[in-house]
Amino acid sequence: MRIHDFPEEIQRHLLPQPGGEMVYRCLGCQKETGIDRLLYTCPDCGGVFLLFNKGFKKVKEKGGRMWRRIFDYRRMLNETPLKGIFRYYEFIAPVIPLEHIVYLGEGHTPLVEANKSLRERVGMPFFFKNDGLNPSASFKDRGMACALSFLNHFVKSRNVKNLLAICASTGDTSASAALYGSYLEDLLRSAVLLPQGKVTVQQLSQPLGSGARVLEIPGVFDDCMKVVEFLAEKYPVALLNSKNSWRILGQESFSFEISQDFDYEVGDKVIVLPIGNAGNITAVMSGFLKFHEAGIIERLPKIVGVQSEHADPVYRYYLEGDEEKRVFVPVTVQPSVAQAAMIGNPVSMPRVIDLVKAYNSAAGEKRVFVVQVSEQEIMDAMMIANRNGNIACTQGGESMAGLAKAVREGYAAKGETGIVDSTAHMLKFISFQEMYFEDAFGPEFGVRARPELRNRPLLVRPEKVDRFPEPGRPLEGDEMKRFVEETAAEIAKILELEPEK
Ligand SMILES: *Cc1c(COP(=O)(O)O)cnc(C)c1O
Ligand SMILES: [Zn+2]
Repeated sequence: MRIHDFPEEIQRHLLPQPGGEMVYRCLGCQKETGIDRLLYTCPDCGGVFLLFNKGFKKVKEKGGRMWRRIFDYRRMLNETPLKGIFRYYEFIAPVIPLEHIVYLGEGHTPLVEANKSLRERVGMPFFFKNDGLNPSASFKDRGMACALSFLNHFVKSRNVKNLLAICASTGDTSASAALYGSYLEDLLRSAVLLPQGKVTVQQLSQPLGSGARVLEIPGVFDDCMKVVEFLAEKYPVALLNSKNSWRILGQESFSFEISQDFDYEVGDKVIVLPIGNAGNITAVMSGFLKFHEAGIIERLPKIVGVQSEHADPVYRYYLEGDEEKRVFVPVTVQPSVAQAAMIGNPVSMPRVIDLVKAYNSAAGEKRVFVVQVSEQEIMDAMMIANRNGNIACTQGGESMAGLAKAVREGYAAKGETGIVDSTAHMLKFISFQEMYFEDAFGPEFGVRARPELRNRPLLVRPEKVDRFPEPGRPLEGDEMKRFVEETAAEIAKILELEPEK
């Protein structure tokens, strides 16, 4: 729809103008720093940042009802920069001019209702939010769209060229960073650091295809992260890990979309997501808090973070019920099928600690929970989800297993609806499905395939046929007839088909 076709009173709100004043706020010492420099940690105390819009009061003044109308009308508006996560422009990064926004098709991923057999298995109704349907096939594109839009704006307004953008990754961050970086042509060069042998073949192929410099390092993600952080401190590079708080802003769109897709009624929803570096859960809490503060949603949904037994530092932290006594202790990770969340020392832990307090306090009760699941539960959940019409990756399986756990532990109850974040596309993690089919998990995973979930292709090559078609050598006449009849007969036997009378 074109602007002049909308109701007159809404027209002037549809195309946003840059405004507000964004600052980095340190979660360690509370100091605020301007955004005219690329910064990732506080120059004073080394703490992590979140970005704040000092003009948020003005944003709130429009009122919840007006914002709901604006977003619902924007859904019909054909304006490229507002087609993705920036439909919620004023709540994300309202300092980026529309012409600098990079849109590669991210956001507005489908909510797919779980069928009856999945609902019964988990113990409550739920939806998958399929974030694997983003351009690089994971939710990371939400944050990258924001971070790269800001970088695009940053370099264009300063005439910088060939800025090096760099990240450490469990696979999906690098795929996303390289994809968005490659779109910006000669403004950016991309380099990604990966833990050698700890990303899937598909994930490795993505940054290579986008033309990034791919560097493999011995160790696990936490080790790569240390190297990248050192580089970002000592050299003029743009860091694209979720330490970069612009990424958190973009990922908040996940919460905004869920709010809008349920007509802003989310008080009875239970949002379930895997925790790795904890950027995603940070963003999801922050997003709902913003919409709550602006009166766009009346009640906050429950949030359930999920961790595998093999990488569970956040779960362990919250095991201690007494807030005062909690101490964060990084863990040494064990191999996990939820490889993208296999992180022992999450960079965003200080953000999580702050936001969980703010969230529970705004809700007036405990609304954030963390559960732990086994590797076996994760794999079984992914396999079963996908046998019921879904496209869940291992982390999506982790989310579904986490919802089932939340039901068993009483965190989710009758009358509520789950929203399970399937964070990437199953095809990125297909090697784990393959290991399941082969029942080939090493003892370090502790996963055994359930026989009824295994599946293999079966070669049909009837003995009575002497010649089979080959590429460039098709069969003809009687040979073709025989091939078709015999092959069909054998297939009918395998599938237990009876000829029609
Ligand atoms: C990055 C990632 C996670 C973990 O998200 P964090 O923000 O690091 O907690 C989970 N699943 C997938 C598919 C990912 O790529
Ligand atoms: Zn500080």
